[in-house]
Amino acid sequence: ASGYTLLRDPHYNKGLAFTEEERDAHYLRGLLPPTVISQDTQVKKQIQLIRQYQVPLQKYTAMMALQLRNERLFYKVLIDHVEELLPVVYTPTVGEACQKYGSIFMRPHGLYISLKEKGKILEVLRNWPERRIQVIVVTDGERILGLGDLGCQGMGIPVGKLALYTALGGVRPSSCLPITIDVGTNNEKLLNDELYIGLKHRRATGKEYAELLNEFMIAVKKNYGEKILVQFEDFANHNAFDLLEKYRSTHLVFNDDIQGTASVVLAGLVAALKLVGGSLADHKFLFLGAGEAGTGIAELIALEISKRTSLPVDEVRKKIWLVDSKGLIVSSRKESLQHFKKPWAHEHEPVTQLLDCVNQIKPTVLIGTSGQGKTFTKEVIESMASNNEKPIILALSNPTSQSECTAEEAYTWTQGRAIFASGSPFSEVEYAGKVFLPGQANNAYIFPGFGLGLIMSGTIRVHDDLLLAASEALASQVTQENYDNGLIFPPFTNIRKISAHIAASVAAKAYELGLATRLPQPKDLVKFAESCMYTPTYRNYR
Ligand code: NAP
Ligand code: MN
Repeated sequence: ASGYTLLRDPHYNKGLAFTEEERDAHYLRGLLPPTVISQDTQVKKQIQLIRQYQVPLQKYTAMMALQLRNERLFYKVLIDHVEELLPVVYTPTVGEACQKYGSIFMRPHGLYISLKEKGKILEVLRNWPERRIQVIVVTDGERILGLGDLGCQGMGIPVGKLALYTALGGVRPSSCLPITIDVGTNNEKLLNDELYIGLKHRRATGKEYAELLNEFMIAVKKNYGEKILVQFEDFANHNAFDLLEKYRSTHLVFNDDIQGTASVVLAGLVAALKLVGGSLADHKFLFLGAGEAGTGIAELIALEISKRTSLPVDEVRKKIWLVDSKGLIVSSRKESLQHFKKPWAHEHEPVTQLLDCVNQIKPTVLIGTSGQGKTFTKEVIESMASNNEKPIILALSNPTSQSECTAEEAYTWTQGRAIFASGSPFSEVEYAGKVFLPGQANNAYIFPGFGLGLIMSGTIRVHDDLLLAASEALASQVTQENYDNGLIFPPFTNIRKISAHIAASVAAKAYELGLATRLPQPKDLVKFAESCMYTPTYRNYR
């Protein structure tokens, strides 16, 4: 290849870091200014550049441009500054990027499959330049974060999630494929926007939708084999549960909104036991919000308690209560409930207000997954505080404006007794002379390591026990120092080490269940996970 081609290929480009020898050997003389600088210096230069931008979206576009220019540098910058850049390449900034994707659209980062490609999906997959794909993150754009239907512009989500697969979980970038399935959008604003990049009609539903997705799932397995991991991301709940149910027995599928969230939150709860004492079975749970996140978390908690106590899951579910937009989910509503809510319809009189639910049910754990901000009012939190020495309060809705309460409110209204974590980050809070560090129940703790564990062991199906294994592994990474600060999640700075532990635990469980196909089983799975992880250090081209 000519030097010019080398410079234009993001997989090989090193910019000013090409050495004198490389410049001679690869026809690069004259194409670069004479100075040679190290990758570390380039990282320093890039992060300074990004910090100069005041507007988050500018930081995002700068990072995306870097990814398209110099992939290894992009990942080195991201890994070396993970806490700072996570909110840039992922939530909350990625949300704004999706809203404006039409106007910032540069070059394809992933594959678009629309209704126009019906009957040709296999051919479309073959147009992607990489052959050995291990993870696909796919969205249909209908429920992007808490922002609703963004249609084809949802592409920012699979792109961002896969960047984290590589940065946090060490999955090779060339093995990752972001895909957006475009069946239309019901977003009027987009339908009337001349810059909109997707199909300009309302969403296909029913048979037409199901057939396109089925063609996609068949094509994926045909093209990449049994071990391809397909992560569903930001589908609306009326499709998400059905897709997971339909394909979990034939494909390696994972829904991060349902299963990933559940695994992360369960890890936080297991860790919180260190602070409150007792076991999960001693607790009573109340959720505000009974969608993908709420019922997903509830089910995994029930499963964990059932495993530990040998009580039937049905019995355990009775400790868990959910509230949706119509009030407490109770048995008299059963007929009219969506199927994923039915297991939670317990015997109780109807209650509409959250405060009344808290007063009557007296939960020890209150979890917000409603997408509705400010719903954990002072009265609600005070009721939690009067019933519990250390109330566990998780306000998980994103972005920050939708959080059920702020960290400050949780600590103040409980006189500093709350164990709190949130979906969006909050800064530390000072109350009564003490500093509280609120933790973030970020899905990025689990899915990268979880995916790595599946890939490195050649696992062919996702089993709920693998999610439980991931939760336990994450909880075990919380240190005494973290607990002393009131944290139930570890800091992100060590995330690659944490991911390796999660990967190892997931793989170990997969081997135990006979779901892993990579034989023989490596002796030390943590070491093996680390050895599988991609590092973005430049290679020498001799
Ligand atoms: P979803 O499937 O649409 O579910 C939302 C649920 O909230 C539904 O059950 C809905 O009730 C209920 N709800 C809406 N308004 C309500 C109100 N005023 N009072 C009580 N319940 C209300 O959405 P999702 O995927 O579960 O996501 C929900 C939120 O969780 C989002 O903000 C998301 O960002 C956040 N989340 C956080 C994390 C994390 O922290 N790691 C992970 C995933 C999701 P109906 O069923 O009656 O409509
Ligand atoms: Mn999601």
